[in-house]
Amino acid sequence: MGVCSMSVASLNKNEFVGKMPDTTGFNYFDEDQNLLFLMKRYLSNEDFNRAKPLLAELGELAGNQLDQLSRTADKNSPKLHSYDAKGNRIDKIEFHPSYHEMEHLGYSKFSMVAMSHKSGVLGWPEEFPYVLKYAFWYLFAQAEFGLLCPMSMTDSAARVLEKFASEEMKQKYLPHLTSTDMDELWTGAQFMTEKQGGSDVGANTMKAEKVGDHWELWGDKWFCSNPSADIALVLARPENSQAGTKGLGMFLVPRKLEDNTLNRYSINRLKDKLGTLCMASGEISFEGAVAYEVGDIKNGFRQMMAMVNSSRLSNAVRSTGMIRRSYLEALEYARGRSSFGNNLSEFPLMRETLFELLLDSETTTSIVLHTAEIYSEADKGSEKDQALLRILTPLLKGYICKRARYLTAEAMEVRGGNGYIEDWVNPKLVRDAHVGSIWEGTTNILALDVLRSLTKDKVGDIFFNEIFVRLDRIKNPLSRRVGEQLRSISGRIQEQTKRILKIEGLERELHAKKLMNRMYHIYSASLLLEEADFEITDQNNYRKLFLATHYLCRYFLSNGFDDVYSVDKSLLDSFNKIVDWEPISQDVVNTLLNEIELVSI
Ligand SMILES: Cc1cc2nc3c(=O)[nH]c(=O)nc-3n(C[C@H](O)[C@H](O)[C@H](O)COP(=O)(O)OP(=O)(O)OC[C@H]3O[C@@H](n4cnc5c(N)ncnc54)[C@H](O)[C@@H]3O)c2cc1C
Repeated sequence: MGVCSMSVASLNKNEFVGKMPDTTGFNYFDEDQNLLFLMKRYLSNEDFNRAKPLLAELGELAGNQLDQLSRTADKNSPKLHSYDAKGNRIDKIEFHPSYHEMEHLGYSKFSMVAMSHKSGVLGWPEEFPYVLKYAFWYLFAQAEFGLLCPMSMTDSAARVLEKFASEEMKQKYLPHLTSTDMDELWTGAQFMTEKQGGSDVGANTMKAEKVGDHWELWGDKWFCSNPSADIALVLARPENSQAGTKGLGMFLVPRKLEDNTLNRYSINRLKDKLGTLCMASGEISFEGAVAYEVGDIKNGFRQMMAMVNSSRLSNAVRSTGMIRRSYLEALEYARGRSSFGNNLSEFPLMRETLFELLLDSETTTSIVLHTAEIYSEADKGSEKDQALLRILTPLLKGYICKRARYLTAEAMEVRGGNGYIEDWVNPKLVRDAHVGSIWEGTTNILALDVLRSLTKDKVGDIFFNEIFVRLDRIKNPLSRRVGEQLRSISGRIQEQTKRILKIEGLERELHAKKLMNRMYHIYSASLLLEEADFEITDQNNYRKLFLATHYLCRYFLSNGFDDVYSVDKSLLDSFNKIVDWEPISQDVVNTLLNEIELVSI
């Protein structure tokens, strides 16, 4: 345990002078009261008891060995060897041994790809529930982000094949994609983006020619992560197919042919990236590469979106992990260092920063785990949950991945000059966090997808109804006061949404990002409130209600002219209790609410 759990006031402040603490050696699960709270909430007692030692083992690894491996791999990027000594084309990518060790931990020891595809993994009787799977990915991402891209693509490639591929294809590839034996494992990739645009996939020109029982692909892909994957799912255009996304087919392209020679595509070079430095991303030319159609050849784009949506959610989970790591690093540093004769964490402005990190960390964790539950129900066939998943996926990817950029940078600043130095984890977090809002669709593209979910798939009513029903369930009188504010704001956002949807043409898009953010916040606030109500009933603790009230202020009542925060000092008084998960009394929240209601009339 770090300084996090100690009472700072009781320690001699001099002992913090010149200290530069970090979270090395922490168990990221044991430190995470919020994750514990949510796991208990979502899992049955039996599942929780079975999951806890696994999570604790991963938490220990993430704060120790995995973190060290990640830092080493980050400093030793993969190298492309195009030719062997005799001039034969080999396109071999050499990874640092630390990367391979991390692969072993992710794919094999913790079976993080296999876990949602088959039963019996890590002794779990069925397939892992998504909520637990995401908890694993969240913990892993606190130490390592880059490798989770190939792991996520392997995971979602398996999902796509399960959904759309022929029995023969499933039997051939699925056992390898979901293997926990490194000698048997085949990793996956997804190649869509071409030079003319990753957002406008319909502009893809790569050609597919039918040759006997297979296809041959011709053309270039401009961004290919995990370019040496054993199989890639690739979008290409069969001859005479129509223009746009409707004319794209999905193809499975094996790295090696049946005779064990390399398939006919070349990795031209690796990208010189800002982040995800341990993992390779490259450019590939397909020169008649052997390919096999997946599912319905006329439905390639729609099938690929199943893969992309699963990766989009995974991206939100990973960003949430990086946000949590950023918060923990910032807290540890601020509580273990002093300035001007005082502990850093006792300064009001530092408390404000740390609280912002905490609030977003807990909220993002709540909403990704909630969405994991929705995912499970949607997979079981619930139409309501399928509709919710349709809109929550772009909301989470769009908002959380963008927010991670800001929060990782805030945590960097908490560490002062050290935060900018590569000896510490912060630069890696900032670099890695930046790609989350670019790949798998940029923020703008996600905002437009939110609009599409409302116009084309018409999920708006289900979304708002879910919030209203949740607010109806709130029992505690104080929670209900927050609930009434949220109800009124939800109603206003619903009306705004209807007005926006009536706007014709491009003008409608002007509102998409603001709408995405508002919808994200109102849904998150209602979730926080529901958790608060549960915590009050269960433990007579008003801590989560304190957070929900602050969330309401921060995102809905304090824009522009800031009346609420000009009167509130609850953060100063309650900071240590909030951080240490100590009980918050009803009176604290009552006072805060009185102030809010006074100024927000
Ligand atoms: C490290 C890395 C790894 C990657 N790995 C892969 C991979 O494995 N497979 C793969 O297929 N792709 C991969 N990509 C590509 C990535 O998905 C694309 O870069 C991304 O989708 C954006 O496409 P683009 O770069 O062509 O930008 P563009 O599509 O040209 O977009 C440029 C800008 O215009 C904006 N824009 C575009 N259209 C609109 C619009 N209608 N309204 C408003 N704004 C708009 C975008 O938001 C963006 O800001 C990777 C990218 C990176 C950085």
